[in-house]
Amino acid sequence: MSVETRKETLGFQTEVKQLLHLMIHSLYSNKEIFLRELISNASDAADKLRFEALAHPELLEGGDPLKIRVSFDKEARTVTLEDNGIGMSRDEVIAHLGTIARSGTADFLQNLSGDQKKDSQLIGQFGVGFYSAFIVADQVDVYTRRAGAPASAGVHWSSKGEGEFDIADIDQPARGTRIVLHLKAGEEEFADGWRLRNVIKKYSDHIGLPIELPKQQFGEEAQAAEVEWETVNRANALWTCPRSEIKDEEYQEFYKHVAHDFENPLAWSHNKVEGKLEYTSLLYVPGRAPFDLYHREAPKGLKLYVQRVFIMDQADQFLPLYLRFIKGVVDSNDLSLNVSREILQAGPVIDSMKSALTKRVLDMLEKLAKNDPEQYKAFWKAFGQVLKEGPAEDFANKEKIAGLLRFASTSDASGEQSVALADYVGRMPEGQDKIYFLTGESYAQVKNSPHLEVFRKKGIEVLLLTDRIDEWLMSHLTEFDGKQLVDVARGDLDLGKLDSEEDKKAQEEVAKAKEGLIERLKGALGEQVAEVRVSHRLTDSPAILAIGEQDLGLQMRQILEASGQKVPESKPIFEINPQHPLIEKLDTEADEERFADLSHILFDQAALAAGDSLKDPAAYVQRLNKLLVELSA
Ligand code: ADP
Ligand code: MG
Repeated sequence: MSVETRKETLGFQTEVKQLLHLMIHSLYSNKEIFLRELISNASDAADKLRFEALAHPELLEGGDPLKIRVSFDKEARTVTLEDNGIGMSRDEVIAHLGTIARSGTADFLQNLSGDQKKDSQLIGQFGVGFYSAFIVADQVDVYTRRAGAPASAGVHWSSKGEGEFDIADIDQPARGTRIVLHLKAGEEEFADGWRLRNVIKKYSDHIGLPIELPKQQFGEEAQAAEVEWETVNRANALWTCPRSEIKDEEYQEFYKHVAHDFENPLAWSHNKVEGKLEYTSLLYVPGRAPFDLYHREAPKGLKLYVQRVFIMDQADQFLPLYLRFIKGVVDSNDLSLNVSREILQAGPVIDSMKSALTKRVLDMLEKLAKNDPEQYKAFWKAFGQVLKEGPAEDFANKEKIAGLLRFASTSDASGEQSVALADYVGRMPEGQDKIYFLTGESYAQVKNSPHLEVFRKKGIEVLLLTDRIDEWLMSHLTEFDGKQLVDVARGDLDLGKLDSEEDKKAQEEVAKAKEGLIERLKGALGEQVAEVRVSHRLTDSPAILAIGEQDLGLQMRQILEASGQKVPESKPIFEINPQHPLIEKLDTEADEERFADLSHILFDQAALAAGDSLKDPAAYVQRLNKLLVELSA
């Protein structure tokens, strides 16, 4: 027993306490994953050491090949994992095994329901990690020493997984980390060679360094000195193996390791590129969004290797931002081993890898959509909003991205985002040459919008866009398959050939007949409107507001205003339905005051139907009440 100095007891960060509690109770049915997590960490530690040793070879301390050893003691009921990776300093131990640094964690944990079943689903968004040791152990001891530090810089961390941990300085000659799990009563099954071997084969076969178990037969006790070790995993980096030799389960387990995820991925794409550039990529589409998908600092990017040496996590230079949810590995033969984040910022090698990898991901998504629509639905639910950033960010792939988008539509009463632009185009009747869409606050609001009346009458499908990002998306996506995308609430709706010559002629005649009424309305509404005109969008509603061709839509205006920006004022176009009895009545209203009241009411109602708020709601109510009183008098 070595001497412990500077011993202190520290409390876990609140988030760690919550996570520990949750993990112990909700992941119990899958408890063997603790081993995968600890091995994954040991493998990361080896990766980090190899990387730091590129610049500082002395960190390798002359030595041994990098490896992980797992042993057990049946009598003492312990399982021990030992690695000769990078190790940790005292400060690192306190930071990494006492806190969770990821931003947004507190919010995330706050939102858990307390329902264990649901929460165990959610915790997958988070990644479980080191603390999963406490699923099977009621005490965990970590002995570690950072590579390059003297033996006296060893650290002993110990905790029962409750509120606190002990930490002390120790002498530790061996570099790296040894973790001793004191198994809970009832978990003796893990102090067993066969059990450990099976779990390692199942979850960690793909780990790129040897995982060794003691060689002696089951049940045999051996003194440490005479232990022979045996490698139980395949021990070469998965992506370096040919595709034909990798099983789906292996791809899936490797994903959990690189992505720090708990669940299987939806799809993956593994490619070796040879020629002018040489690299291997293994890219994954996760099964669901991490809790911090929209946090600016959320982890994103690929794990970068150069000639199989780990270089960095979160290399975000290889994919555009709108594909930030993709996880995986890229291993380049062209980059230099001492490549830095700065060097990665630009250059022809990075650019050409980025554009090839981007295409790979888009192809993978296309394939998923085509071959497995159910899985694609899950993908869309998780990441559709992020993919919608694509057309604005990636001009070159605009059409490809557009093909991957899914929208709610008047053709699908469920309101789900299920319609692809290609589906829409395939359904377009003779004479339709544009793709029509309507944006708004909510599905409930747009599906009943008066803007849809003429389309319903003519049996024309309209896409219904209600995500916050949609207006912005559509301002960048103006065409698909050679067809213009048209906002039905914008400008002077031109239905092209969908309106017959007679229709058009009739519209002109009505407009002419109502010129007088239009002038009176302009007078009554004054500054509130940019224009008043006869509508051909309507069948049932008396009036409607259209947005000027160049004006910001309601959604964009609200987003900009909410973010404190000054938004240029824009006035709506007020369109009336000449066939509507209220408009006919208005046309014959001789009393100018009544005419003005009615005009304002119609205008305000049109604003409400568009999901806008009224500038002067009290005036609206007063006018309406005045009319009601007259009616009941
Ligand atoms: P993650 O692996 O997702 O970062 P973990 O909870 O698994 O989260 O581990 C937390 C951190 O603790 C790691 O990021 C690493 O810095 C440190 N750590 C854990 N195990 C080891 C180890 N065997 N060697 C060195 N550092 C480790
Ligand atoms: Mg981990």
